[in-house]
Amino acid sequence: MGVVVLDGKRISQEIQEELKPRIASLVRKQRPPALAVVLVGDHPASQIYVRNKIKACRDLGIRNVEITPPGDITTAELLKLLAPLASDKSIDGILIQMPLPKQIDAGLVTTNVIDPSRDVDGFSAYSLGRLVLNEPAPRACTPAGIMEMLKRYRIAIAGKHAVVVGRSNIVGKPLALMLLHENATVTICHSRTQNLAEECRRADILIAAIGKPAALTADHIKPGAVVVDVGMNRLTDTALVEKLFAHDPARLTAFAKNGSTLVGDVEPRAMQEMASAYTPVPGGVGPLTIAMLMANTVQLAELHCGAS
Ligand code: NDP
Repeated sequence: MGVVVLDGKRISQEIQEELKPRIASLVRKQRPPALAVVLVGDHPASQIYVRNKIKACRDLGIRNVEITPPGDITTAELLKLLAPLASDKSIDGILIQMPLPKQIDAGLVTTNVIDPSRDVDGFSAYSLGRLVLNEPAPRACTPAGIMEMLKRYRIAIAGKHAVVVGRSNIVGKPLALMLLHENATVTICHSRTQNLAEECRRADILIAAIGKPAALTADHIKPGAVVVDVGMNRLTDTALVEKLFAHDPARLTAFAKNGSTLVGDVEPRAMQEMASAYTPVPGGVGPLTIAMLMANTVQLAELHCGAS
């Protein structure tokens, strides 16, 4: 059998379709779900992420409240600005887009503004603690989306060796716990891991969440492994793009037109040649993150409206 391209876009659409009757039921019984999105400053990538999240809300009929303070706001001013949001019971989920500008105390803002019942991103200490205990709570959207995709593609996890490269609190660590709860044997690697390629080659399921363009190569992939590439790195270096996508003329044409392209943390050609299944970049993990954000918002709204 040929290599399977894990189509995150399709799964994302499926998940969002399934949310529609739940949203309709909430509207009928009480009110639409509501998500507040806080974007501080004008970080270009964050602006794109927030635009996509708001578009998904609109497409689904989720009410959204957007708050966009300037990038030079102080922590005290931001806390004051967001205080009404923190006590507004008609909001089901609050998302503060990261990264926040350096002068802001991100920990202080998130703990003061987002109570656990509205932690739609699943990043709070409370939600992460519940994940460790395998108790219900909103799950971080990117890892939850990856788990949902593996489930929908019927990729066996129990008893498999999963290697997660990256140990961030928003991707690597929660994903490692989710895989563990599904009975994988889990190895977590990071920048201090020795013999990274050797560790990765043990993986039946290899997850790359590093943030380094094409850092993992064919040398890191066991033949037949499932490879999930979380990385999203924008490349403008023509020589590098030509090297990485020499096998993909369509991508090179698009690059010549746009002047940039996205690449993951794994060499695209290595995934195609070595893996039994892999997520493309773009079109793999990215769309799943948004779908799970919508799913978390609806789930919180159902709890708040007493519908589940
Ligand atoms: P972080 O920068 O927070 O974490 C990166 C992790 O990778 C760290 O644990 C770091 O190790 C490890 N690392 C860095 N370099 C190496 C290396 N050479 N070898 C092994 N490990 C290494 O990143 P995030 O988790 O936030 O994001 C990772 C990637 O995923 C980024 O490209 C990001 O854009 C993307 N992303 C994509 C999303 C999507 O929706 N598709 C959502 C979220 C993220 P150490 O801890 O030792 O420093």
